[in-house]
Amino acid sequence: MIKKAREAILHCRRLRVLTGAGISAESGVPTFRGANGLWGKYNVMELATPEAFQRNPELVWKFYNWRREVIAKVKPNPAHKALVDLEKIIPDFLLITQNVDGLHQQAGNKNMVELHGNIWWVKCTTCEYLAQDRSIPLPSLPTCPKCSSLLRPNVVWFGEALDPEVLDKAIEAIENTEVLLVIGTSAVVQPAASLIWLAKEKGALIIEINIEKTEASEIADITLLGKAGEVLPQLVKSFRE
Ligand SMILES: [Zn+2]
Repeated sequence: MIKKAREAILHCRRLRVLTGAGISAESGVPTFRGANGLWGKYNVMELATPEAFQRNPELVWKFYNWRREVIAKVKPNPAHKALVDLEKIIPDFLLITQNVDGLHQQAGNKNMVELHGNIWWVKCTTCEYLAQDRSIPLPSLPTCPKCSSLLRPNVVWFGEALDPEVLDKAIEAIENTEVLLVIGTSAVVQPAASLIWLAKEKGALIIEINIEKTEASEIADITLLGKAGEVLPQLVKSFRE
């Protein structure tokens, strides 16, 4: 199977990669949905919502400051590094990620779309201000340097729509790809799941790398079971043989 995947990727000119929490989990990023310890008494899904932020911005910022602190300690893994190699090999490459941890940029990927935003960026709740800020911790209620309104994390919360420009870019790229490589996503969170179906509908070859079968396995042409940090480097290394 890995040989078939290798042939397909080696001979394609257009490749899209869709990544989810699984690739970050291999670096040690917790999913946060099952968070315990400090945040165990809260329903995490209820902290990452616009309503929670409106109700208690200090609590939501405390949660994000904690998440930033956790993520700051982890590093890109061999799967992230293999994707940087792939970007150098494939002429038309786009990485589409559901992850907000910024590990793909840290590894060195350039051409990418972050469907759910990035935890290292902040945006103003009033004006257009948007900036990267890696300080830890941020003030308990950080404010906009332009208009003094409250800042919020630049991530898409539960119940919020994705940035239409970001989503359009992902859809357009998916519609004209030859191969879609799906890594570490359970394919149940939208719109990621629909992007996989869209690629299939448009005739792309779907290659899936996951530790277990997912809903995407039903439509994947090739499923490689295993850790992305082991499978992907094998795949990319084989290009140089
Ligand atoms: Zn502002």
